[in-house]
Amino acid sequence: MPTISKVLIANRGEIALRVLRACKELGIATVAVHSTADADAMHVRLADESVCIGPPPSRESYLNIHQIVAACEITGADAVHPGYGFLSENAKFADILDAHGITFIGPTADHIRIMGDKITAKKTAESLGIPVVPGSDGEVKPENALEIARKIGFPVLIKATAGGGGRGMKVAKDEDSLEEAISTARSEAAAAFGNDAVYMEKYLGKPRHIEIQVVGDGEGNAIHLGERDCSLQRRHQKVWEEANSPALNVAQRMEIGRVCAEAMKKLKYRGAGTIEFLYENGEFYFIEMNTRLQVEHPITEAITGIDLVHEQIRVASGAGLSVTQDEISFQGHAIECRINAEDPRTFVPSPGTITHFHAPGGLGVRVDSGAYQGYRIPPYYDSLIGKLIVHGRTRVECMMRLRRVLDEFVIDGIKTTLPLFQDLINNQDIANGDYDIHWLEQYLAQPQAE
Ligand code: ADP
Repeated sequence: MPTISKVLIANRGEIALRVLRACKELGIATVAVHSTADADAMHVRLADESVCIGPPPSRESYLNIHQIVAACEITGADAVHPGYGFLSENAKFADILDAHGITFIGPTADHIRIMGDKITAKKTAESLGIPVVPGSDGEVKPENALEIARKIGFPVLIKATAGGGGRGMKVAKDEDSLEEAISTARSEAAAAFGNDAVYMEKYLGKPRHIEIQVVGDGEGNAIHLGERDCSLQRRHQKVWEEANSPALNVAQRMEIGRVCAEAMKKLKYRGAGTIEFLYENGEFYFIEMNTRLQVEHPITEAITGIDLVHEQIRVASGAGLSVTQDEISFQGHAIECRINAEDPRTFVPSPGTITHFHAPGGLGVRVDSGAYQGYRIPPYYDSLIGKLIVHGRTRVECMMRLRRVLDEFVIDGIKTTLPLFQDLINNQDIANGDYDIHWLEQYLAQPQAE
């Protein structure tokens, strides 16, 4: 099937392993790249070849485009999978690979650019028939802010055009707080992104975060793989994700999925992507589109049985999608817990050596992790060290299984977020699926029983 014969994986950690596994299954050779800090990492050990691309700081290694292109040339890799983070949404990187005749396993550089700019993304989404949050028609200047805010209705949210990671965002409750919210958002945006442009949206009080997985072949065919509910977040970082959402019924799922798939057909989108919405009172409001594989993609794989990385490689090589919309069905329920090397209460990173590591097993259990006994977690990168994905025939069965699996999982020598999930699995709101995007922060703010 694939015209791709050797993939260089421009990433590290669990996602590098994830991509490597898909390549092996498809009979494609793999090249790992790594910084000097990751010489012992599992993705390096399991790849067919590896190239050291620089010192520990990401800027000089995993974000170093020249070194990565050079590694492709040295090893003869004809394609690059960027994983998530790092260069995965860097349009310039996609352009440079293209100029070198190397296939970027992802969307076109143009689509990355469109979705990378918040205002352009929102306008594009709207023109493709996707429902968006009511807001300003483009950039907001201090002089026209009040007029726009009155039209939208308070409370409003000021957001950075170049935004990401929840930075440069400020709520204005009323007219009195507007001026300050705008100037704080602008200075935060200037500091974080070197661009102080902001726009305005209606602030939703108690929404859920629901996102739709799509895959397109770049020729006008596209499918959706249902939704993921990622409402349990801390500082805009997802912590626990579910598919399907406890808040949607089948008709709602198929309708918003259809809208997204149709939009991707019109756009001629190529590759995997996620259209993110806030969901409140039965309405969906587009917030952004991620033009890459996401951390939480395995829960979609669990309920559909479709390997998203296989699909990414297929469409990048021109082989098209392996399934049609009619062939997709949603089986049971899946939950992912992100296991970070962090204190489970303060979330302070906890790098160090793992003295014991025992991953759980059994029916419906998947552990995606590059960690092992004796592995030294370097302090330079994201603290995600693994993902636990549990699948059951119903949400209740999935939760019962998750409780059992959390008891089995042993990671010693460092602090991890596993104890947080042991608390959450026993919480009544979680059991009921009754939570919004603020729930986890409110829960963590409560004094904890010892
Ligand atoms: P970023 O790219 O910085 O992560 P997003 O637009 O994806 O920005 O928004 C991040 C988070 O901020 C959302 O998941 C949600 O929690 C919150 N948020 C964004 N827009 C709104 C809104 N209009 N009303 C309420 N909360 C919002």
